[in-house]
Amino acid sequence: MFSLAKLRNIKEEGVYFNSHIDGRKIFMGPEESMRIQSNLGSTIAMAFDECVENPSPYEYTRDSVQRTTRWLKRCITEMDRLKSLDGTLNKQQMLFAINQGGIFRDLRIEHMKEIADLNLDGYAIGGLAVGEPAETMYEIIEAVEPFAPKDKTRYLMGVGTPVNILESVARGVDLFDCVMPSRNARHGQLFTWDGVRNLNNAKYETDESPIDEHCDCPVCKSFSRAYIRHLLKSGEMLGMRLAVLHNLYFYNNLMEVIREKLDNGTFAEFYEKYRNILGVRI
Ligand SMILES: [Zn+2]
Repeated sequence: MFSLAKLRNIKEEGVYFNSHIDGRKIFMGPEESMRIQSNLGSTIAMAFDECVENPSPYEYTRDSVQRTTRWLKRCITEMDRLKSLDGTLNKQQMLFAINQGGIFRDLRIEHMKEIADLNLDGYAIGGLAVGEPAETMYEIIEAVEPFAPKDKTRYLMGVGTPVNILESVARGVDLFDCVMPSRNARHGQLFTWDGVRNLNNAKYETDESPIDEHCDCPVCKSFSRAYIRHLLKSGEMLGMRLAVLHNLYFYNNLMEVIREKLDNGTFAEFYEKYRNILGVRI
């Protein structure tokens, strides 16, 4: 509902909003959200929550978080009911709770404790990366992490850059989702093991090297910075496709390397080295 802020009206029962296509009035509450996600049969269903804007006043955020907890309980009841039905697509569907509370540490912690008691399949931290400084986001993660169950997946919603991911893993996060690798690629911003490269820069006009010399992706094996830059500049769709392919490969590879480093006990060294490299503009 966050992106529809101008069109919505939040009540205890759920959210009323107007369709951005034809203005039609639509209602969605926790039960409707669970039914939709159950019909999709996704591996993970996310709880129905309110993601407050940043900045939001303390009182509004407190009331919103309490309602989000009441909504979560309704989500659990509805999900249990749906799983007991014969025709349900995915009876193993997991339900993740979402921690909210804006930038207020006490609300965040109190909420995480409450939802931890409800024994969900996983715990997301929501409502971050909505315009606050990265340092604030890291502080919130550090504040709530000790109260998130140790044996459940921790998911940071809508994050982020390779550095954000590295910093969050160092603070105990397991799972991420973000439009960044694909959206930034379409604008010529490529993530590499040497830092962030903007292919629009004139210096790449005749540069025959690959996007990333340390990358094994099909794009880096066959195409040059100059050629992909030319495609992007000419508005050729292939330029965007190649850039997206590289960035998605890079993100997958980054997570693979992180898992490997965690498994063999060398994450700390990896973190210290790459936290200062991955965000550098090259
Ligand atoms: Zn590549």
